[in-house]
Amino acid sequence: MATVVSEISSPELTTPMGTISVLPLLEPRPENRRLISDSTVLRISTALQSSLFVRDVIRSFANEAKRIVRRISLRYRNRSDGLSLQEGRLQLHRCTYDLNLLGKSLGEITFTRAQPFSTDEQSLLEIMLCALIYPLRNSLLYERALRTALKDPLTGINNRANMDQHLDQQVLLSTRYGTPLSLLMIDVDLFKGVNDSYGHIVGDAVLIAIAEGIVKCTRNSDVVFRYGGEEFVVVLSNTKLDGAMHLAERIRASIAEMEVKAADVDLRVTISVGVAELQASESSVDILQRADRMLYRAKSRGRNLVITDDGC
Ligand code: GH3
Ligand code: MG
Ligand code: MG
Repeated sequence: MATVVSEISSPELTTPMGTISVLPLLEPRPENRRLISDSTVLRISTALQSSLFVRDVIRSFANEAKRIVRRISLRYRNRSDGLSLQEGRLQLHRCTYDLNLLGKSLGEITFTRAQPFSTDEQSLLEIMLCALIYPLRNSLLYERALRTALKDPLTGINNRANMDQHLDQQVLLSTRYGTPLSLLMIDVDLFKGVNDSYGHIVGDAVLIAIAEGIVKCTRNSDVVFRYGGEEFVVVLSNTKLDGAMHLAERIRASIAEMEVKAADVDLRVTISVGVAELQASESSVDILQRADRMLYRAKSRGRNLVITDDGC
């Protein structure tokens, strides 16, 4: 059964209503049956099932809620999923509901309006919230699954599948608008030796620290990926070779200075970096291959080095 926990926080509705149990929409409370027709219920349910994205579900819900209770606006917040969505301007009178399904929080919805909410209007909103709960839960699960599919479980940064999508898109944009695009291919030096000497747990901790170290050096517009085992890629939109080389050098130096503490071991590692800028009519595979070739060159020249595709 869906449970809506309600806290009313508008000035006119100062009495806390405590926990309100609302039956799922297919079985509205008998006293509420007169408030909403079956065809309206069907229309709302259909609207809420038209997308699996939380933003669309909340937007559809807000549109339907506005048809039923005039001139309301709405805010949805869900801290654990980092969501804060608003439909319309927030107004004076507020009515907030914590949404729970089987003990799991689905976030909080606040309805707002210039006029206070009547008891009947609150009942209507509660009936609507019952219709929202399952589509909202499904969309939250779907978006979480999407996010998980694109993240590397060890380091928490973007994974290879994510990189393939992102790089293809960036190459397309760069080609279409003539903006520069550069890429860093990073590989940890002699990493097998870390595993062999200290074990895989320490090796994993080093990879996590390196991922964090790379992310710390980058701007918001630079996107960092774990490409493979101890290999990372950074995609730099709107960046020429020069800028990419400077960033690569900053990352290399900061990793070389970093002391990784794992278990009771303190150790230092270095990285090698290959840098390439997208050339006219190149594909994402081409730029990756050129950066990889530069990385190979950095390895053969002694490691802990940055090499760009003009050989500097
Ligand atoms: P080079 O400087 O030439 O890159 O030498 P390297 O030792 O880093 O290269 P190599 O390719 O021989 O070794 C990579 C190692 O990375 C081997 C593999 O066991 C390790 N590795 C890959 N993925 C992981 C992981 O998720 N965790 C740990 N601990 N080790 C990993
Ligand atoms: Mg490697
Ligand atoms: Mg390596």
